[in-house]
Amino acid sequence: MAGRVKGLEHFRHDGMEYVFCDTQKELPETYEYLARLEAELGSKIIRLNAKAGFDHWHKLFNGYLPSPQNRWCTKYLKLKPFEAHVGNDNVVSYVGLRADEDRVGYISRKPNIKTRYPLKEAGIDYDGVIKILEDSGLGLPTFMNWGRTNSGCTFCFFQTPFEWAKLLEHYPKYFEEAMGYETIDPADPNKQFTWMEGAPLSSLLDPEERERVLEAGIREIAPKSDGKLASIFGIQTGRAGVACLMCQK
Ligand code: SF4
Repeated sequence: MAGRVKGLEHFRHDGMEYVFCDTQKELPETYEYLARLEAELGSKIIRLNAKAGFDHWHKLFNGYLPSPQNRWCTKYLKLKPFEAHVGNDNVVSYVGLRADEDRVGYISRKPNIKTRYPLKEAGIDYDGVIKILEDSGLGLPTFMNWGRTNSGCTFCFFQTPFEWAKLLEHYPKYFEEAMGYETIDPADPNKQFTWMEGAPLSSLLDPEERERVLEAGIREIAPKSDGKLASIFGIQTGRAGVACLMCQK
C-alpha cells in the first residue's frame, strides 16, 4: 500500500517484513483486519509471541496487572518479541505515527534498530490516513462499529469507561474474562489490581452506572465530532500520550 500512496513511495522496499506481536488477547476484529491487510499487502504478516502470550507473563508478574504507569505488557509482549525477532540484523522499523500526533511510546533503543515515521515524514495527518484506508478499500477496523477506538487487547487499560461499557455490551465474555484478572483484597490495600482507576469492572454491571458512563462518554465525544465513527476515532486516538506506539497497530 505504501508504494501506491503519494509521499510514501520511497518507504517501500523489496524484502519488507510485516510483523504483529500477538498478545493472544486480541479482538476478533483485529485478526480479521490483519487478514484483510495481508490480502491488500500481498504478503504474510509474521505473528510473534506464539508461545508466551499475556497469561504467561501475568503469571510471572504474580497477578499484577499492567497499567499506564507499569506497562510490562508492552515491554514483554510487544517490544522484546520484536527485538528478539530482529536479533542483531540492522533494520529500519516503520512506526505509523501520523503527522498530527504528538505521542510518545515504546520504541526500541537498540542501536541496530533505526526507527522511522513514514506518515509523519510525509506530512500525512488523520484525514490523510482515512483517505489512504478508504482509497485502498481496506476501510477502518470493524470494532469501531460498536464503539471501540483502538486495536489493543480486549482488556487494554487505555480504554475509557465508555469503551469498557461498550465491551460489556458487545463482548460480555471478554468483559467477564477481564473481570477475572482483577484482584480486590479487602484485607490488603496493596492488592487492589483493577483495570479502571478507582473502580472495579463489576461497577459497570449495574445498569444505572453503565447508563451513566455511556451517556457521559457520548456527551464528551459528540460536541467534538461530526458523528462519524471515523471522527470519533480521530478524537480518541489524538489523546496525546495515552496509548503506546507498539500497540496501535
Ligand atoms: S494493547 Fe494495552 S494491554 Fe495490550 S499490550 Fe498494549 S498497552 Fe498492554
